[in-house]
Amino acid sequence: MVAAADIKIEKIQVSKLLELSLENLPFGRYFTDHMLEADYINGEWTNVSIRPYQALSFEPALSALHYGQSIFEGIKAYKTESGEAYIFRPQDNFIRFNTSAERMCMPTVPEEIFIEGMRQLIEVDKDWIPNRKDHSLYIRPFMFSTDAFLGVRPSTTYKFLVILSPSGPYFAAPMKILVEENYTRAAPGGVGFSKNAGNYGGSLIAARKANEIGYDQVLWTDAFEHKWLQEVGMMNVVFIIDGIAVTPSLEEGTILKGVTRDSVLTLLKKRGIKVEERRISIDELIEAYKAGKVQEVFGTGTAATIAPIKEMKYKDTIMQFDTDKWTIAPAIKKDMDDIKSCAVADENGWMFKI
Ligand SMILES: *Cc1c(COP(=O)(O)O)cnc(C)c1O
Repeated sequence: MVAAADIKIEKIQVSKLLELSLENLPFGRYFTDHMLEADYINGEWTNVSIRPYQALSFEPALSALHYGQSIFEGIKAYKTESGEAYIFRPQDNFIRFNTSAERMCMPTVPEEIFIEGMRQLIEVDKDWIPNRKDHSLYIRPFMFSTDAFLGVRPSTTYKFLVILSPSGPYFAAPMKILVEENYTRAAPGGVGFSKNAGNYGGSLIAARKANEIGYDQVLWTDAFEHKWLQEVGMMNVVFIIDGIAVTPSLEEGTILKGVTRDSVLTLLKKRGIKVEERRISIDELIEAYKAGKVQEVFGTGTAATIAPIKEMKYKDTIMQFDTDKWTIAPAIKKDMDDIKSCAVADENGWMFKI
């Protein structure tokens, strides 16, 4: 671990909190007083500092803007009623961040900077963690290439930052989903399993076209047959079919390994619900729906935790679900909320104390 002295801390004079209430803030719009910053130069990480949140300045030739070496993570911190602060499963995001880095030919970030830097940053800005129900501090670690050079090759310099955004509550209104048959989010051999910026840029048009015909998001299908189900928007997807939780398996590399996905699967098993990680096609889903066997369908991700799906359209078939009658998704959501608010024992070791 980097000792406290290794991370330089420069604090702001007057906190922005004095003119902001932490109640009901929209997601991702407000940022705390400080940020963590580190530079990768000459093959090593240096200049690790916590300093006032501020604009950065770069040359127009900044390679991340041209060639897209840019990755990120999304994590949440919570404050309990007694004022203790916890981060939810940051170790898993740390591992995933470095998996993304390797795929994008970027350097990995050591734990002393990613985890310990994040911990110290949140400690400095701990008054920014909302302690109301369903509120949280959203943590955004990210890294991008910084060479000012237009030749195409992996950059030699990078910047790693962590910024913090208080937000909540996030109301996950039941979604209407269009099964995507033209665009592709991820293909075997591609970058679907990495949390890189380009995955988002490339997926926006599908959601926009779905919006135009009254749908909230798309359910991604495989690149070859547009038949095997992958993810819903930027969330993993879980189907409860005949009492069994079915979710696409990870081995093809086309699915982002969600921390919420893993948490939800763990909690489903704990409640005695069978979990199947495997390939599932739209044909299988529709057949099960017609047989009255599809009970619940939802997305999982850090922002919403669980996002229920009330309607799905594939060609001329429309599947509808009465989310008010669901029992499993609400139970799992409550299990997650209870763990995050420390209302129950943290049996899985998911809560990282700040
Ligand atoms: C971030 C992300 C998820 C959800 O991951 P969590 O760790 O649960 O937040 C799912 N799919 C995609 C494509 C993502 O980028």
